[in-house]
Amino acid sequence: MNNSPDGGQLSNQERLELAAVKAGSKPVQRLERTAIEADKLEKKLIDKGIVFVAAEFHVIEHRSHPLGDAFMRTIPGRASGSQVGIYYVARRANFDAARVLARLEFSDPGSPEIGQRLGYPACCVAAYQDIQSGRDWLESMLDHTSESDPGFMACNRLAKLFGGWTLLPDYFPCSFGCSLSADWSNQILSSISDASLKEYVAAARVALEFPIRIEANNITQLTPSPQIVFHNTKITRPRTLTWLKHS
Ligand SMILES: [Zn+2]
Repeated sequence: MNNSPDGGQLSNQERLELAAVKAGSKPVQRLERTAIEADKLEKKLIDKGIVFVAAEFHVIEHRSHPLGDAFMRTIPGRASGSQVGIYYVARRANFDAARVLARLEFSDPGSPEIGQRLGYPACCVAAYQDIQSGRDWLESMLDHTSESDPGFMACNRLAKLFGGWTLLPDYFPCSFGCSLSADWSNQILSSISDASLKEYVAAARVALEFPIRIEANNITQLTPSPQIVFHNTKITRPRTLTWLKHS
């Protein structure tokens, strides 16, 4: 889902992904934009030596999750005007990888190869198959998370509900304690040089560290003034997730 304030700009999460692409720790970045917004973005990114590949299909939302994530259906024909298209961003050396992804997502939108080619950890790609078939992502992540061990800050996917905070590309880690995701986040963060992105990372580290309490009908970020999102989580036993830094 396009979560940036202006579609011609990149959100902080997309800026993190782009840093990963430039540093070689993510092969290709996938963006969802209207054709009009994509045109503006392409001009900016091409100036920075990045290739931009438009998919030969556009998308419409066919299922949205109450916690703000949308699942899309592909329609033949490149996006135009205000239609939403998919765009793949890569270093020049990965131009072919971007083109392969553009074709693959059209011919086999449910293929786990898409997640692999976007650089997501294999454990998370495998777990995503359930989510894609309709399972609730929170339920899936909780099921894969140990009740006795803390999670990793980088895998705190719930902090996105409380201000959009994240230190990972836009995917669902298999669990809140996925060490491959935490490693990947560290790798990406170590390659960031942009001062304003570093400021975002510092603020995100603070936001991601607050424990999160999950009850049957709400999710609470335990900040000094707790933030609550009302949501039917279907869990029968409340859980409080705490977060470890990972180094
Ligand atoms: Zn994983």
